[in-house]
Amino acid sequence: MKRLSEVSRREFMTLSAAGLTLANSTQLFAVSQKEAVSAKTPPPVSPDQALHDLLEGNARFVKGQPTSPRRSPEDFRALAEAQYPHAVIVACADSRVAPEILFDVGVGDIFVVRIAGNVIGGAGATVKGSIEYAIAELNVPLIVVLGHSGCGAVKAAMKHIDVKDSLPGAINGLVELIKPAVAQSHGLPGDVLDNAIRKNVELGVERLKQLQPIVAPRVKEGKLKVVGAVYDLRTGTVTEL
Ligand SMILES: [Zn+2]
Repeated sequence: MKRLSEVSRREFMTLSAAGLTLANSTQLFAVSQKEAVSAKTPPPVSPDQALHDLLEGNARFVKGQPTSPRRSPEDFRALAEAQYPHAVIVACADSRVAPEILFDVGVGDIFVVRIAGNVIGGAGATVKGSIEYAIAELNVPLIVVLGHSGCGAVKAAMKHIDVKDSLPGAINGLVELIKPAVAQSHGLPGDVLDNAIRKNVELGVERLKQLQPIVAPRVKEGKLKVVGAVYDLRTGTVTEL
């Protein structure tokens, strides 16, 4: 089996052409061309372009027409030396929220941090350090804080809003971090759970935008965008907040 570095340019172009035959959308065509131009160091992507690509991928997923790109052994091998993801996705650990699938992207495309309740504020060095690593070392231009409908962690925070130490182990400490979102969404019109889920995402986005010393300056310079979104388990749709 050849490594990508051993594949000749002609073979690479042939592979790309085969990819194009399979591709039936202009967006995919653009991606394949980009790959053909620079297999090793792809050109940087703007925050808006990265967000646009994710939402287009989600639209394909919702329509039941995913292209499921970059998932072959060759794609994995090509990335063995380096990665160039276009977005950090901070998503819930929930088994139904699978970022690569719902955004219809492939290996190396997104840098995913998953934690129950997609908690950021108070989550500590492991979560913030993971996000900061992607920004500082990999120059990722976009962070998406992705909540989802029916989130069990947010439900637990609502249920135990007035009770401390009501959940076993470290679950209680995790749920405590979501309670501010529940409290701040109290009294808003609409569904109480949906409101708390949205507020939890919004608080995460705000926290990240102010996170020093890596994230906040880049946001201010326009090199990095932080957005919130909610994934609907029933429809598969990701809605930007
Ligand atoms: Zn959840």
